[in-house]
Amino acid sequence: MTSVTRFAPSPTGALHIGNIRTALINWLWARKSGGRFLLRMDDTDSARSTEDFAQGIRGDLAWLGLIPDSEVRQSDRFDLYEGRFAALRDAGHVYPCYETPEELDLRRKILLGRGLPPVYERTALKLSDADRATLEAEGRRPHWRFRLDHDQPIAWDDLIRGAQHFDAHALSDPVIRRADGSWLYMLPSAIDDVEMGVTHVVRGEDHVSNTAAQVQMFAALGASPPAFAHAALLTGAEGKLSKRLGSLGVDHFREAGIEPIAVKALLARLGTSDPVEPVVDTAPLVATFDFSRFGRAPARFDESELAQLNTRIVHQLPFGAVADRLPQGMDAEAWDAVRPNLITVADAAVWWRVVEGPVAVTPDPGDRDYLALAHRLVGEIDWSADPWHALTGALKIATGRKGKSLFLPLRRALTGMDHGPDMAALLPLIGRERALERLLP
Ligand code: GLU
Repeated sequence: MTSVTRFAPSPTGALHIGNIRTALINWLWARKSGGRFLLRMDDTDSARSTEDFAQGIRGDLAWLGLIPDSEVRQSDRFDLYEGRFAALRDAGHVYPCYETPEELDLRRKILLGRGLPPVYERTALKLSDADRATLEAEGRRPHWRFRLDHDQPIAWDDLIRGAQHFDAHALSDPVIRRADGSWLYMLPSAIDDVEMGVTHVVRGEDHVSNTAAQVQMFAALGASPPAFAHAALLTGAEGKLSKRLGSLGVDHFREAGIEPIAVKALLARLGTSDPVEPVVDTAPLVATFDFSRFGRAPARFDESELAQLNTRIVHQLPFGAVADRLPQGMDAEAWDAVRPNLITVADAAVWWRVVEGPVAVTPDPGDRDYLALAHRLVGEIDWSADPWHALTGALKIATGRKGKSLFLPLRRALTGMDHGPDMAALLPLIGRERALERLLP
């Protein structure tokens, strides 16, 4: 059976690091298993969902290289939900309730006050047709709950959390539809997972109790449930769920010069027993992906770890992976020369400016004669092979200088900086003409 995963964000905001990780895990499993990765916009909340957010999510996934094989939107599927809902209602799997939020809240408080779990007491199930008619005549419109089957034990073998058991008595019958007819997340999601042929529901562990109810919804819909994998949540560097994590998304990473592959390399391994590695493409992440590597403890996301990983990755990116983002004229040779000194790919432009010049330097008066000699030698050495070693070799013999006093005045004069890429790689890029100009006494 071909596996089908889905990433199901609500387009009510931008993706954050937690959603991105969920999308990635779904994508990795689809790629690993030769299956399909679907995007489902959970946009039943028409007041909060916007097309701008949906576009933003598509753009973020594109930047990350997590391209869905197809996309559906829940707002296009209301007819489907209506039909399934009618069948569930006729079979007694959903029932109308008339309590106001205030009444429900009061009941919850009373139960808690008595030390009891605040589980919905199914008061609405005890209403007679006449009671309902009276309530409706008073202008009350029902919201709807899914009736959990208290006789059915709820269990599944979670691909990350292992064997899961829930007692249906301990759960409230979930509200699936509001009095205004709008849908809550639970039922449309289960209907879609059936209709879309989803084989693996992969999401954060904040959905575990939803899964308990949804397992019974699948049964009521006449379908067998998919496999489930609930990943432990991410925590901030300071060890707790932070607001900051909720604001870290693709825009932030892009502005910070973080490569999409760095985000994926970190998130694919965070919270697993495999080490985070500076990979330059997703092939090794796909090849090693395995739900059983994920642990149950919260995974710590540290922005500085991401930045460091990014830099290690940048140092290995091939020219082809960055060519379209480099300044005009910068070729593979130039990329290889500056790459070891970069923090982000954008920094390549800084070194390219150094190559192209002009560079401003006021040489140390004590180095004037030395640089004049260097200027003469630059005109004489063989530029075809290794001009830097030819130049410094000749200067060493002529002056007896070595180490820093040999190299640093040259680096300063040629680049305007005290540090930077290997001069042996940089000097051929600067070239004879510019070198002569910069060493002019
Ligand atoms: N729209 C839900 C969310 O963003 C989807 C959860 C799920 O994957 O089923 O939390």
